Amino acid sequence: MKTAIFPGSFDPITIGHFDIVERASPLFDKIIIAIGQNSQKKYMFTLDQRMEFIKKTFKDFPNVEVDSFEGLTIDYCRSKDVNFILRGLRNPADFEFEKAIAQTNRELTQDNKIETIFLLTSASKSFISSSIVREIISFKGNYEILVPDSVRV
Ligand code: ADP
Repeated sequence: MKTAIFPGSFDPITIGHFDIVERASPLFDKIIIAIGQNSQKKYMFTLDQRMEFIKKTFKDFPNVEVDSFEGLTIDYCRSKDVNFILRGLRNPADFEFEKAIAQTNRELTQDNKIETIFLLTSASKSFISSSIVREIISFKGNYEILVPDSVRV
């Protein structure tokens, strides 16, 4: 079974994330959207809220699941026996950042290589980020057009 893990903070999920998962779901038997929890990091939404937003968003996608994890993504992949990490690329900055992480992850998984699969963002969504959405929410702006309907504050 070909399973991919889509790791991220998803604070909150945006229509950019949705686009990546929607386009990847026919390519894999299963996609696990995995919310990385870092105890040092401050989030706008609690883990439960972020999970709920994602669950509702993908309720009609039978091969999309939601989970959370702490620690290294590759350790989480191993615990789930998954060899593919899915990531989205928006711009050259994403590429440079993601390249270093993906290559490191390959080095760290000598025995059983974990491959990172990248999808380019759709042009109309490449400017969207969770941090911009949080900024708009904090100033009571019209964030709704940037997130799935399930995300409401
Ligand atoms: P992280 O904290 O790991 O960057 P994010 O939730 O910001 O977590 O992003 C998770 C993944 O989704 C990353 O691969 C990121 O590049 C991708 N992503 C974020 N926003 C978009 C977007 N607008 N279009 C496509 N991919 C995106």
